[in-house]
Amino acid sequence: MGGLLNWYDENARPLPWRIQEVSPWETLLAEIIMQQTRMETGLPYWERIRKAYPNPQSLANDSEENLMLLWQGCGYYARARNLYKLAVTLGEEDLPTEYDELLKLPGIGPYTAAAISSICHNQPVACVDGNIRRVLSRIHAMDLTPSQLNSKATERLDISRPGDWNQAMMELGSQVCTPRNPSCSECPVNSTCGGMASGNPESWPIKKKKKQVSMSLVALVIHNLEGVHLIERTGKTLGGLWGIPLAEVGTESDDLLQNRDVKHIGTIKHDFTHRKLFVDVYTTNPRTGEMVTNPDNAPLSSLDRKILSLVDAV
Ligand code: SF4
Repeated sequence: MGGLLNWYDENARPLPWRIQEVSPWETLLAEIIMQQTRMETGLPYWERIRKAYPNPQSLANDSEENLMLLWQGCGYYARARNLYKLAVTLGEEDLPTEYDELLKLPGIGPYTAAAISSICHNQPVACVDGNIRRVLSRIHAMDLTPSQLNSKATERLDISRPGDWNQAMMELGSQVCTPRNPSCSECPVNSTCGGMASGNPESWPIKKKKKQVSMSLVALVIHNLEGVHLIERTGKTLGGLWGIPLAEVGTESDDLLQNRDVKHIGTIKHDFTHRKLFVDVYTTNPRTGEMVTNPDNAPLSSLDRKILSLVDAV
């Protein structure tokens, strides 16, 4: 794979952190945001969050809710909660430079620790993410276990430029060895690729069927001209955000709607990774004691924003 770094030097996209000096903290923000968010969606979040929090101390001195406000719409909110915990854990300390020390911090797994230690500190640690898994599985024309992936990635790592090598592998996966229609004729490693030789590189890695469960929910938008009644979300998916009261259709939704003068205004569909939601949206006026607030000032998920857009459209 000798040509990979040359290819990367000539073809790497001019991403903001590649064309300007950025700190390890800013690199960490980029790695955390871009791992589960598409680049074009994630870039404005990266810009916004690094400007608001130029170092871990500035985040630790702010509230988690303010971080959630900046993060809303980016999805996978556990990342933001862990980032906040990480900043608080660091206190006045800088981010560690060593892989093993990075791994001890909240929200930092093997991929992120390898990325930070190699890209920011030139340490010879190989990264394995979804793109690299696809490239390596195709080159070897086999489905590789996590430990096989780690050893193959480590064997190939160019220790003279480990950070660039890791980025080159990821760039190859995202720009050339794409999930569908890989551009094998333009690939710098095509002369040694078993997947290309097989004539069907898309066979690897073997795709696992995603199980998506359908759920029917009811949302009750309690509002007046001054604002909307919001509740604090809990749980892994949306914890740390605020939102519209929701209930699963059945006794829970009966409880939510009972003894209220409600109006059904429509149904929305929303996909999470493992769940497809069908949400019947109702509106009503606040009861005494139900506080309302301006939803523009609260950290809401894209599901809640979708529900509120339906209310605005009626
Ligand atoms: S030759 Fe094709 S399948 Fe093999 S690594 Fe390159 S793009 Fe992927």
